[in-house]
Amino acid sequence: MPDTRTRTRTLAGLLATLLAVVPAPAPAAAQDSAANDSAARDSAATAAGADSGIVDSTRHGGRAVGLTFDDGPDPEDTPRLLRVLRTHHVKAVFCLWGEHVRQHPDLVRRIVADGHTLCNHTMRHDDLSTLPPDEIRADLRRTNAAIRAAVPHARIPYFRAPYGAWGDSPRVAADLGMQPLGWRLAVEDWNPPGTDELVRRIREGVTPGAVVLLHDGGGDRSQTVDAVARIVPRLRAGGWHFALPAPRPRP
Ligand SMILES: [Zn+2]
Repeated sequence: MPDTRTRTRTLAGLLATLLAVVPAPAPAAAQDSAANDSAARDSAATAAGADSGIVDSTRHGGRAVGLTFDDGPDPEDTPRLLRVLRTHHVKAVFCLWGEHVRQHPDLVRRIVADGHTLCNHTMRHDDLSTLPPDEIRADLRRTNAAIRAAVPHARIPYFRAPYGAWGDSPRVAADLGMQPLGWRLAVEDWNPPGTDELVRRIREGVTPGAVVLLHDGGGDRSQTVDAVARIVPRLRAGGWHFALPAPRPRP
C-alpha cells in the first residue's frame, strides 16, 4: 500500500526533525526504507529512555509475576495461548522471532490487538554473543521492520537476546530504544517435561516480582499453553497478580 508507506515515511521524517537533539542514526541501505522508518522511530524511543541494564523483574515487588513468551508467533500454540490469556485477563510480553513474524503477520496483529507488549527477539534467533555491534544493530532493525510491516507503528519496548547470549546487544538495544529483558525463572519448557511438571516448576520457582521465561513458538509448546491455563488461576488464588516487566532496572 504505497499511500500508507508514504505517510509513514513522512511522519517518521517529521519525528526525526522534531527530535533533532537526538543524533540521527546512520541510514541503513538506501533500498531498505522500512528499516529506515524503524530507525527514526527507534530514535524517538531512545529519547523516551531505555538503558543497557537487563531487566528481570516487574516494577513493583510483592506477589507480582511477569509472564514472557519467546520464539513465536506459532500458528498452533500462539492462538491457543492468546485465548488462555484473554480468558484470564492476563497481559504478557511476546518476544518475537522475526522470520516467524514474516510468516504469520496476522498473529502479530492479534497479539497487539489483545493488548500484549512486544519484544524484539532477533530475525533468525542467532547467537549474538560474538557478533560486532553493527551486525547486531542491523539484525535488530530488520526485526523491528518486520514487526512494523505487520503492525505499523508498533511499540517494541523490549529486546531479548536468544539463549540469553547477550554479548554487546544490551547497549545496541538501548541505543535503539529497547530495554534488554532477561528473566528470573526459566522452567525449561523448550524440553517439554509434561504439563504437571511445568505447573510444579512454575509454582515452586516463582518469586516476588519475577519475570518468567516461557515459549509459545520454536517447537511444540502445547504443554506450556496447558500449564499456563492451569497455573494462572492457582497463582491468582494465592494472591498473585500479573504485571509487565519494569521499563528499566530499579536503582
Ligand atoms: Zn528464543
